[in-house]
Amino acid sequence: MEVIKISPRGYCYGVVDALQLVRQTAKDPSVPRPIYIIGLIVHNRHAIEELTNLGVITLDGPERASILEQVTEGTVIFTAHGVSPLVKRRARERGLNCIDATCPDVTVTHDLVRDLVANGYYILYVGKKWHPEPEGVLGEVSGHISLVEDEADVDALRLTGEQRAKLAISTQTTLSQWDTRRVIDYIKTLYPQAEVHIDICAATQSRQEAVVAQAKGADLTVVVGDPRSNNTNRLVQVSEELAGVPAVRIDLSQMKPEWLKGKKRVAVTAGASTPSQLTREVIRYLEQYQPEM
Ligand code: SF4
Repeated sequence: MEVIKISPRGYCYGVVDALQLVRQTAKDPSVPRPIYIIGLIVHNRHAIEELTNLGVITLDGPERASILEQVTEGTVIFTAHGVSPLVKRRARERGLNCIDATCPDVTVTHDLVRDLVANGYYILYVGKKWHPEPEGVLGEVSGHISLVEDEADVDALRLTGEQRAKLAISTQTTLSQWDTRRVIDYIKTLYPQAEVHIDICAATQSRQEAVVAQAKGADLTVVVGDPRSNNTNRLVQVSEELAGVPAVRIDLSQMKPEWLKGKKRVAVTAGASTPSQLTREVIRYLEQYQPEM
């Protein structure tokens, strides 16, 4: 089987740094125990298993604030997705040792929305509902921001005259840049005065652009990553909608032979939270696969 190894793919610097910080913390005997991660450090169960084996406990749940309620002592690590100031304050009030693994690209958005609100803006934040990153950003400026995922959410907005007058748009870091553009264009048709800030990170953009450019001509794109990883799911979408190549998302080597039936060229990429080892296994499997003649 001919395999196109799409590049860049896989771990981004934000994920690498967050994992490194957790590993260092786990090895440091001076850090108060137990050590908890509030939410999934990255959306990949293999990466989480590695940290569990180092003695770090991952707590998951729908909201960071409610997850934190489970912790009464020790150390809490905030994930690369960022957390709201409320979560940080509650952790301090509980006397917990806090370690922040927020990706610098997410911090940029936190700083931006705070600055915008300080300058009198109301914000429309384009992002995914129930994803931890919007939870943290919205918590920075609650009451001055609305989360919109699509055009229907924009239609449902009931903005006051004051909010309309000074409106800004900000975005989640891991969205599809083309979907985001579509939603922003729609917002601009209703609110042409809105000031646009696109905060999709460079790692997400470059991985999406690489799929569009390099998957073309393949019979199938295999995206290695976890179903909860937003940027992984966006790579599947980008392959299908922009490169015109059918795509499957897999976790570990769950390759189903029927996916490969009749395929001669397969492109492989991976989400920003996918360990390289998993992607290497998939590539090895495909390179050794003999298509039926
Ligand atoms: S995907 Fe982007 S924002 Fe998220 S951790 Fe990686 S570099 Fe940071």
